[in-house]
Amino acid sequence: MQSATIDLIDIGVNLTHDSFAPDRDAVIERAAGAGVRRLIVTGTSVAASEAALALSQARPGHLFATAGLHPHHASDWDAAAGMRLAELLAAPEVVAAGECGLDYFRNYSSPAEQRRAFAAQLALAADCGKPVFLHQRDAFDDFIAVLREHLPALAGGVAHCFTGDHEQLQTCLELGLYIGITGWICDERRGQPLQAAVTALPSDRLLLETDAPYLLPRDLPERPRGRRNEPAFLPHILERLAVLMQLEPARLAAAATANTQRLFRLPPG
Ligand SMILES: [Zn+2]
Repeated sequence: MQSATIDLIDIGVNLTHDSFAPDRDAVIERAAGAGVRRLIVTGTSVAASEAALALSQARPGHLFATAGLHPHHASDWDAAAGMRLAELLAAPEVVAAGECGLDYFRNYSSPAEQRRAFAAQLALAADCGKPVFLHQRDAFDDFIAVLREHLPALAGGVAHCFTGDHEQLQTCLELGLYIGITGWICDERRGQPLQAAVTALPSDRLLLETDAPYLLPRDLPERPRGRRNEPAFLPHILERLAVLMQLEPARLAAAATANTQRLFRLPPG
C-alpha cells in the first residue's frame, strides 16, 4: 500500500516514555512519513499527562493528549491529583480522560485502590464531557461493573488495547464502546482469541493504536533494535487486521480515522 494514500491516527502512543527521549521528533516524522500524521499521546500519571499536554501544544493539530492515572498508579490517587487532572482535562488538546481502568495482572496498586481511582476518573470524564480511554487487564468483570454505573453520564469511550475474546468483545460493543486494536493482533500465540473475535468487529467501532513503545508486532519483517515499538508501524497492524476482517486496508483505514475523529471530536485533519 502507498503510505501517501493513507491517513491514520494512532490513538495510543506513550510518547512521553523515556525510550523516546533521544529521538522523539524523529519518531514523529517517521510516523508521518508512514501515513500516521496524527497521534494521541497517552497520559498515565499526573506528570505524564502534563508532559503529554505539553507535547500536543507544541504540535497543534498533529498531537493530542489524554489525561489520567493508569491503574498501576492508582495508589497515587488523591484530591490533589483529581484537581490537577480536572485542570488538564479542560485543555482543548486533551481529548479524553484516562488512561484509566483496572489491571489485576500485576496489581502494582491494590484492586481496591484501582477501583476507587477508576470510578473517580469516570466521574471526572462525565464532568468534562470528554470520552474515556479505558485500560483493562485480567479484571474484566469488575471493570464492566464499575463502568456500567457511570456509563449513562459518559460521552463514550474506547476499550484501549482490547485483547479479549468474542464474548468480551460483544459486551464492550453492547456498552457502546469503541475497540482499540494493537499489534497484539499480530501475535500468533497469545493473539488467537482476538484474531477470532475481530471477525465480528463492526468497522464503525474500530480504532487503531500501537501502544508504543510497548507491544511491538511480533511479525514485523524487520524488527527494530531494542524491540521498541513506534507509531510508524501502525500501517502494519492495519494490514494484518484487514486480512482478518476481510476488508480492503484503505477502507478500514478510512473507517478507523473517521471513528477516531468522531469519538475524540478532533478538528478536521
Ligand atoms: Zn493501557
